[in-house]
Amino acid sequence: MQINSPIESIPRISAAYSKRLNRLGIKTIKDLIYHFPFRYDDLSKIVKIGDIKINETVTIHGEIINIKTIRTFKKKMFLTEALIKDESGTTRAVWYNQPFLMRTLKKGTKISLAGKASYDGKTLYFSNPAHERIDPQAPSDLRHTGRLIPVYPETARLTSRWLRYILKLILPKTLPEFKDFLPLEIKKSQRLIELKEALNKIHAPKNQEEIGQARRRLGFDEIFLIQLFVLEQKLKWQKKASPKIKFAPDLIKNFVASLPFKLTNAQRKAAWEILQDLEKPKPMNRLLEGDVGSGKTVVAAIAALQCAKAGYQATFMAPTEILAQQHFNEISKLFKNLGLEVGLLTASECKISYDLPIGKKQEVESCKKNELIQKISEGKTQVIIGTHALIQDKVHFKNLGLIIVDEQHRFGVNQRAALQKSVVKIEDGLPASISHLLSMTATPIPRTLALTIYGDLDLSLLNEMPKGRQKIITKIVAPSNRQKAYDFIREQIKNGQQAFVICPRIEKANGESQMANSNNWQSAISNKRTWDDVKAVKEEFEKLSKEIFPDLKIVMLHGKLKAKEKEKIMADYKNKKTDILVSTSVVEVGIDIPNATVMMIEGSERFGLAQLYQFKGRVGRGEHQSYCFLFTESSSRATWQRLKAIATAKNGLELAEKDLAIRGPGEFYGTRQWGLPDLTMASLSDAELIKSCRKEAEKLLAKDAELENYPLLKEKLKNFQESLHLE
Ligand code: ADP
Ligand code: MG
Repeated sequence: MQINSPIESIPRISAAYSKRLNRLGIKTIKDLIYHFPFRYDDLSKIVKIGDIKINETVTIHGEIINIKTIRTFKKKMFLTEALIKDESGTTRAVWYNQPFLMRTLKKGTKISLAGKASYDGKTLYFSNPAHERIDPQAPSDLRHTGRLIPVYPETARLTSRWLRYILKLILPKTLPEFKDFLPLEIKKSQRLIELKEALNKIHAPKNQEEIGQARRRLGFDEIFLIQLFVLEQKLKWQKKASPKIKFAPDLIKNFVASLPFKLTNAQRKAAWEILQDLEKPKPMNRLLEGDVGSGKTVVAAIAALQCAKAGYQATFMAPTEILAQQHFNEISKLFKNLGLEVGLLTASECKISYDLPIGKKQEVESCKKNELIQKISEGKTQVIIGTHALIQDKVHFKNLGLIIVDEQHRFGVNQRAALQKSVVKIEDGLPASISHLLSMTATPIPRTLALTIYGDLDLSLLNEMPKGRQKIITKIVAPSNRQKAYDFIREQIKNGQQAFVICPRIEKANGESQMANSNNWQSAISNKRTWDDVKAVKEEFEKLSKEIFPDLKIVMLHGKLKAKEKEKIMADYKNKKTDILVSTSVVEVGIDIPNATVMMIEGSERFGLAQLYQFKGRVGRGEHQSYCFLFTESSSRATWQRLKAIATAKNGLELAEKDLAIRGPGEFYGTRQWGLPDLTMASLSDAELIKSCRKEAEKLLAKDAELENYPLLKEKLKNFQESLHLE
């Protein structure tokens, strides 16, 4: 049997089953064997029938001396009852609604049964026990009872029992096909078992120790490949040439002196690290990590300024149009009178800003997209800010020196790769030169991830907040306290501050049409109820502006508005022309309104922790005491626990760690983009394992960078790389 053959080539797998397997992402025999159990039930205690105790999970072996199925009148249910005997006594087993058992379990059948014994007042019996026939040829060869039983991720009409059955059939035939790609010396020094052995033990362990051995080996494989991949990337990256952008001390000193605030020490240090990288002839690949509000933008601006003044272009990519507009406004203001042209390019609008030759005036004007693209290709626009519209093929830079990716966790691995690639393409013909890359994020990265999926990046940390910032007071608000919160907002606005109100949806779903569309009226009603509870921006806007705060200036913002409208709304809000901004999650990342002091979030249980943390970071960006109110109608314990984590976490790192503990690394760290299997996800929190993998990968690449002497490993790495869909 070929391990890369489709599962359809297994004779026992029908079309229906292969469809179900596909739903689990299983297409080939290899996928099936790499579908690992997430848990094992311990049914390994085998006892005599005479020794069974109430409520103890055990396996018994015996012979069926009687079996019958009856149909109960009251509940219209099939009840199959068997009497089982061994040399120490008899017991009963009862199964509900499985009349087909009669076909396989007959009088005289030797059977193995496992479960918890119950007592009905007279005798002990098993209710719905696991069972299997004992093969007289191989009485100890059990799959579903009498041992540690693997439990797999399942899907509709595909059970762990069936998976155990099919794996038992195919494992012996296919395991010999698996070639061990891990170098012998690594297996030895890490005390890892053979691949075949690990694959066998993960599906059919004899004891806990074997599970541990198998998990360690298979976890090592994945992490080791990630390590090889990122280290190779790093080596490749460092072989490329990049423009040397010379540090101009006076330029930077004057710029820093012109800022309305004093840089924090952390900002100075990060800027210095970046400027030094830019001077080198090989490309920078640096991640600037700092909590929300720590002042990453100005650090990036320093790098962009240095780059533009040295005669290269710099580009700044943001995940949303609103954020790109904000960066454009901010950066063109900062670069006033420096003789630079700054451009904004998003899907729906383009702008440029430049200094007028006379008087100290700056001109900002809208322009046609083609016009801007032309200017960019001629090198006239030196700093280009935009959304992923920048990745479009049509944008050709004349001599791009620096790419800045803001909120990098919001971009896929693919998008970042595409941007870098579009640059390499442009420079075709010239010596293979690529731009320096600066990524920015507020997402704290634990050491384990810094060493794995981010292992090819250098890190700069803003571990210090600008002076005068105060802790944001965060409260979970129950419905009964709504009025109090409104009174509080009014008070704040009277004092000259502003407030955000975030709602989970744009408008209410039409409950009636939902009901009409559903053939199950019960679910339609519960749907309607949940949607009705979800605060919608439009409705909330009406309510706030007509009933609650008729005297205040309230505006509404959501993603469906035109770019121009969004921009005007944000500009008015920033210029304090409006008091309350009612918005969807479009303001989630990056938006900077230092005068806003209240962030009120409706239906907060509907947002992820990472999102809530970002919302909270929209306030407390100035010197005023700020507040975050998390509204929820939910009284579930889990919800309150999550919201409490937001309220109490001192910083992003602490919150991320809590989230990691609650739900694994998915949402916060963008590991989902890597499509890693669950086992790897679990291994990602195993610092010891990660360090070992890193060490071995470094050692191996130092010895044999091209893996010439390890063809199996080289092949495996290539497959792994392809599975990431980076190309
Ligand atoms: P983030 O790191 O979340 O991107 P920003 O760069 O948007 O943060 O900065 C948040 C706010 O702090 C902005 O209004 C910015 O002007 C201000 N700021 C940045 N650095 C300092 C500083 N050293 N002192 C005071 N305010 C600062
Ligand atoms: Mg930012």
